[in-house]
Amino acid sequence: MSTRVEIHQLDAVVVGGGGSGLAAAVYLARQPNIRTGVISKLYPTRSHTGTAQGGVGAALGNCDPEGDSWEWHMFDTVKGSDYLADQDAVEVLCKEAIDLIYELEHMGLPFSRTPEGRIAQRRFGGHTVNFGEKPSRRACYAADRTGHMILQTLYQQCIKHSVEFYDEYQVIDLLVEGNRCQGVVAIEIDTGVLHVFHAKAVLFATGGWGRMFEITSNAVTLTGDAAALVWRRGLPLEDMEFFQIHPTGIYKLGILITEGVRGEGGVLRNSEGERFMERYAPTMKDLASRDVISRAIYLEIKEGRGIGGKGCVNLDATHLGREVIEEKLPDIADFCRTYIGVDPAVDPMPVQPTAHYAMGGLPTDVDGCLLADAEGTLVDGVYSSGECACVSVHGANRLGTNSLLDLIVFGRRAGLHMGAYAAAADYVPLPDDPAGRAIEQLERIRKGKGDRAAILRDEMQAVMTEHVSVFREEPGLSEAVAKVQELRERFRDVKIDDTSERFNLDILEAFELGCLLDCAYSTATAAQNRTESRGAHYREDYPKRNDEQWLKHTFQHLRNGDKVEFSYKPVTITRYQPKERVY
Ligand SMILES: Cc1cc2nc3c(=O)[nH]c(=O)nc-3n(C[C@H](O)[C@H](O)[C@H](O)COP(=O)(O)OP(=O)(O)OC[C@H]3O[C@@H](n4cnc5c(N)ncnc54)[C@H](O)[C@@H]3O)c2cc1C
Repeated sequence: MSTRVEIHQLDAVVVGGGGSGLAAAVYLARQPNIRTGVISKLYPTRSHTGTAQGGVGAALGNCDPEGDSWEWHMFDTVKGSDYLADQDAVEVLCKEAIDLIYELEHMGLPFSRTPEGRIAQRRFGGHTVNFGEKPSRRACYAADRTGHMILQTLYQQCIKHSVEFYDEYQVIDLLVEGNRCQGVVAIEIDTGVLHVFHAKAVLFATGGWGRMFEITSNAVTLTGDAAALVWRRGLPLEDMEFFQIHPTGIYKLGILITEGVRGEGGVLRNSEGERFMERYAPTMKDLASRDVISRAIYLEIKEGRGIGGKGCVNLDATHLGREVIEEKLPDIADFCRTYIGVDPAVDPMPVQPTAHYAMGGLPTDVDGCLLADAEGTLVDGVYSSGECACVSVHGANRLGTNSLLDLIVFGRRAGLHMGAYAAAADYVPLPDDPAGRAIEQLERIRKGKGDRAAILRDEMQAVMTEHVSVFREEPGLSEAVAKVQELRERFRDVKIDDTSERFNLDILEAFELGCLLDCAYSTATAAQNRTESRGAHYREDYPKRNDEQWLKHTFQHLRNGDKVEFSYKPVTITRYQPKERVY
């Protein structure tokens, strides 16, 4: 089959049209003479950022009598991370949050308002007043459609600044030589034509990989493409063992019920009607951090206090009253009525933990520049931001509202840095056959004779859910590593039904499964390697945090396609020494 290849040249290419990609693109395109393109497999405003509900964190102090400070926000974030976040990066996150929220407001973002007309703020898990005294109101929100509003606002700014959009183009290869960026290769989904984007700088902002698991809040498109592409090119991934399982997904469906419900006063109850979080987290209760609550829910279920003997507990918001629910949580009420026939103003919502957020990913510095190793060598011209990146501001467990914040803070910084870099740099010449490797991969999938992608995907999700979720231990982890490796081998002969050129989603779904399998391999091997418990990574056979041995970031390189090589980077600690974490 002959494949047509077109070549483009752009100063800066952003891969991903979610909140972080668009934030980077706005700040790139505002710089003079930087031709900027955004490549996105989805139409940008369909990106997962648009589903983010609850809020974006910033210490504006609009709603608590004590006010707020970026230092309290920083402390909460570091504690939430179980002391694994790099504190220099967290400081940047929390300080820059404040002016960025006002900047978004000036761009036109319609935040909900206090009666005095200020940006409204609500409570969210792990965010406190005065270093842990009591829950604080720090999450700025636009009803329960905060991500939607951020995405629309940034998209309009991109249009205003003449960003070029390549919508429904899927990037399938990164071109780098000797730690220097050459560009990316993408497939135009509509036509099947391959496009080589020769670029001085490339930013990856492709979002997460929650589709490794059976029950997840993540859209079907969250398949870890960037993580897999850079890993296959010999570049490292960082802290992949840390994957957040959010406490409240709709039972059996995984659709997220925002923490904002608990922020507004909703409580979790077991089959006895007991508000069980009072036992697990006496101060913060239902607003403890997510790892703590997800473990508590599983323990309640394990001890026989699931609702109706099933694998769920209740999230009770009935006492909030219909008016509050309809005004502050309209989409949540709508999801519950539509998908499970429950009206949250009348009945509690049945919930179970749901795979939600990748704390690890492509290692970067605070300007989004990609690291080639744990020593901090940079890959010139390659950047990453948003969920697929690991700066690291979330460490072992992310606080709610800090992802939307991460997108815009580090999206902006990466965009600014990339523009300056591209203005000064020359193009690195393309290799002889730039699309060769991409074509080879697609042809292999077209000719495969083994199992269908759906079968391999089910097996991967089952083993990841069973052994690499909230509770982990040997020998389950060994089993998971062996199983995922077996699936990666079977994937080499994966079979598809549709071999046509145009709009071939069959081949792209198979390609995405390959990416997920690499993310699963990296996650399972890293989880097996880290013999302690920290944040979202809980080892039943090593239940204690072990700072002496493990207060460090995991780096993983893939060698010869299969062998995982580990190295470690020290955690940057500036203000807050590690302490025991209680809520
Ligand atoms: C249901 C839900 C609710 C959430 N609520 C909150 C909240 O209230 N507060 C909060 O802080 N966080 C929240 N989060 C987390 C947060 O929304 C995400 O982490 C964040 O939106 C990710 O943004 P992103 O820009 O990194 O990627 P995304 O928004 O996921 O966008 C990824 C982009 O990459 C593109 N892409 C992917 N692969 C390719 C490829 N190979 N080629 C080309 N393009 C590609 C896609 O087309 C898409 O445009 C929530 C998450 C979910 C799932």
